Amino acid sequence: MEQPDVDVDTCVVCNDSLDDYHVASCQMCGGKFHQPWSDTAGVPQCGRVTSHQEALAIVFLCQDCFDGLQDP
Ligand SMILES: [Zn+2]
Ligand SMILES: [Zn+2]
Repeated sequence: MEQPDVDVDTCVVCNDSLDDYHVASCQMCGGKFHQPWSDTAGVPQCGRVTSHQEALAIVFLCQDCFDGLQDP
């Protein structure tokens, strides 16, 4: 998992390009990933919305970090 040190918006999960709108930032790794904000977005969902145990807030996690939480 090498991240190129350039400011190109690619999904940290599937490595595909991101548009400016259907995107979210992972609370754990800070990476951007595909998050469709509408049913007709036509983008994959590469992360999850989950509740943060300590902050009691809704946070976004990329699929990689989400999987890591479920199965450490
Ligand atoms: Zn993706
Ligand atoms: Zn992440």
